[in-house]
Order: sequence, then structure tokens, then C-alpha cells
Amino acid sequence: MARVVVLNLPEYGHMNATYPVVAELARRGEEIIYYSTEPFRANIAAAGAKFAGYGDAELFIPPAHTGGLHSVMAWEMGLAEHLLPRLVEEVRNARPDYLLIDSMCVWGNLLRQVLQLPAVCMASVFVPNDRFVTVEDMVRIAYSQAPKPVLLAGIDAMNSYIETSRRIDHRFGTLSPNVVEFFSNRQQLNLLFTSREFHPEGNSFGPEYKFAGPMLDFQRQDIPTEDAIPSSGDVPLVYVSLGTIFNNQPEFFRACIKAYADAPYRVWIAAGRKVDLAAFGQLPSNIAMREYVPQLAVLKQAALFITHGGMNSVSEALAHGVPLLVFPQHGDQHLVAAQVVRAGAGIRLTPPDITPQRLRDLAETVLREQHFADAAKAVQESFAQCGGAGAAADAVLEFAASTVETKAGSRA
Ligand code: UDP
Repeated sequence: MARVVVLNLPEYGHMNATYPVVAELARRGEEIIYYSTEPFRANIAAAGAKFAGYGDAELFIPPAHTGGLHSVMAWEMGLAEHLLPRLVEEVRNARPDYLLIDSMCVWGNLLRQVLQLPAVCMASVFVPNDRFVTVEDMVRIAYSQAPKPVLLAGIDAMNSYIETSRRIDHRFGTLSPNVVEFFSNRQQLNLLFTSREFHPEGNSFGPEYKFAGPMLDFQRQDIPTEDAIPSSGDVPLVYVSLGTIFNNQPEFFRACIKAYADAPYRVWIAAGRKVDLAAFGQLPSNIAMREYVPQLAVLKQAALFITHGGMNSVSEALAHGVPLLVFPQHGDQHLVAAQVVRAGAGIRLTPPDITPQRLRDLAETVLREQHFADAAKAVQESFAQCGGAGAAADAVLEFAASTVETKAGSRA
């Protein structure tokens, strides 16, 4: 039995995907301390790990990231500067054998360097392969088509990232990552929660990458129970959600309500906690709206998912063979949408598509044309072959055993 410290971003998308692996490792006897914030305590405990708090959850609510990738980096580096002094002390005292670090958790990467511990990366999002993707490639992809305000905010953010990382590196003797390393966070072992087939450039990843498939096998504590969802009966179910972060879009939900009023299918909208549900008034009888739904249970019944293209949402849908309309809002959602289109499992929406008529037409296209569902099922098959949490835990334990052997060998 080894002691493990998990460092993650306290956001649903990053947290949810990790519970099944953590639960499997705990079940096999690893002692796990999981760093996050209060809203995630119950799930961490249910996964069999010990909760450790980063502090005030409000601090970790992502801002709008108006300058793209560099804004994400600058924001996280600010958090890293705030967290590191305490984490270095606490995690050193906890004496873990290895770390599990989310692929976007920069303070995990820095802490690993300070404490010189073996580490496994867990990626709930696509990662760039830093052996092939250059900083120039990444900046070109992120900014070549960006409007001027994004570019300017991006330059500001890059400066702030550089300044903060200099201070951190000076104080802790670390080497802060460049933009490619930041988003790949490559460690000795890397768990990717998707399939090689669905990942961009999947074949370029070497043996240190384990494609484990989406992590779905866990009863989360923060969702309503399945009986909150009535059966859709004989008519198809269309499910709509823009995820948990950039979901404050009443106009989008209003367009969906107009588009599907009296359609020959039932529509479930999970609108999130930022819009006022009462403001939508009386809904048509085939449409129901909630703040938050048990998404996996809904997807078991769904014939179509209209999503923002969050990696988890898309993976969860495809794991159930559900085709998609993807309306990307932010960051990697554009990349996820592109992969859905490449796989043939859905259609990408752009802002001009957000009219009742277009939404109705496009939904009916995907519902009618069987090739979308067939393509979604092909991705489902590729996920099923990855082995899930069991295979991920096997890889981690094999890695842990080899690092213990290495330690013993170097002592001998
Ligand atoms: N989710 C849910 N019920 C909801 C909305 C979202 O259970 O009503 C879950 C969903 O299953 C997924 C996560 O929240 O695991 C959202 O993650 P994703 O990466 O799709 O998007 P984000 O919220 O990070 O933008």
C-alpha cells in the first residue's frame, strides 16, 4: 500500500473524471489524500480518499479568460503562487510515495519538482503531444484568428504569467512550463480519459500514455437521483446543457425552447445555476428545465445531446452512443467540437445557428440521419476497449511498483 496525494483543479469537469480511478486505487489499498475545495468533499470521501482543502472555493471559480490560453496560464499561476508555500509544507509532511496530478494543474507540476516525487498525470481534456507540438504551433492555433481584444488581453496575460513564474521559480528552484508543457503536463505516466481514436493525433503518443477511456463508473454525491428523470416513453429524448461554467446564456436556452416547443420529442434542459429558471415562464408540455440533472442517467435515454462541447459531456454522450450538436463556447471546446465532427458523430454549431429554425432543422437532421448515431457508436466502441478505471489503476500500480523498485535499487 502506498500513500498518494492528488492535486486537481476544483472544477466539475476536471474533478468528475478522476473519481472512478481514485475509487479503484483506494479499493486496491492505496491511501489517498485528495486536494480540492469544499464543494467536492462529499465525492472525494465517497471515492474512499481523504479530503484536503485548498481553502476558499470562491478563489477557484474561473474568470472569463478574455485573453485565451495565456489568460488560463496567468490565472492558474497566480493560484500556484498563493498555494505553493502551504502545499510544499503539507505535502512534504504527508510523505506521499507518488502524486496524481491533473493535466492542467500547474501547481501539481511545480510541487512535484520541489518535492522530487514520481508523478502520474490524469487528463480529463485533450493534451498536446509536447514531443511534436511547438510553442509556435500552439500560439498560432490559439491566436492567429483571434480578434484584437483577445490578442491584447493575451499579451497582458502572458506578461503576468512570465512575471509570476519568475517569482515562483526564484523562490522554489522550479522550472515553470512553457505554453505546450503547461497544457500537456507530461509525467512519467499519463492517463488519458479518452481513446486513442478520439484524441487529436492519437497515434503520436508513446508508451508513457495510457488511453483509459472516459471515467464514468462512479455514483456522484452531488447530483439528484435517477428518479428525478421521468422516462421519455416512446418519443426520443433531446438533452440540452452548456455545462457548469460558461452556461449563463438565457438567449440560447430561450432559442431552444422556441425551437422544440411541440416537437415530437421530449426535451430536457439542464440550464445550470446562473440563469433564473423562473424567468422562462410556463414551458411547453414536452420541455422540462432544471438547474442540474443526473447527466449520465439522462444520456442513457437520450437520442441527441445539444452541448457546449465540454470534454466530459461529449465523452459521456459518446460513451452512450449519443450523437451531438456541439456549440463550443470557450477554450478546448472548439477542439472537442472539431473531433466530434471529424468522427462524424455530430454537427458543430456557430452563433448564426442559434435561431429556433436552425436549431430545429439541425436537431432533426441528426435525429433522422442514422450515420450520426452509427459514428457515435463507433466512438463508444473505441472507449469500451480502453478498459476504464480498472485499466487505469493497473497502469498506476505498475508504475508505483516500478518507482519503489527504482528507489530500492538506488539505495542498494
Ligand atoms: N453535469 C451534470 N449535470 C448537469 C450538468 C453537468 O452531471 O446538469 C456534469 C457532466 O456530467 C460533466 C460535468 O458536469 O461530468 C461537466 O463537465 P464538462 O467538461 O462537460 O463541462 P464544464 O462544466 O467543465 O464546462
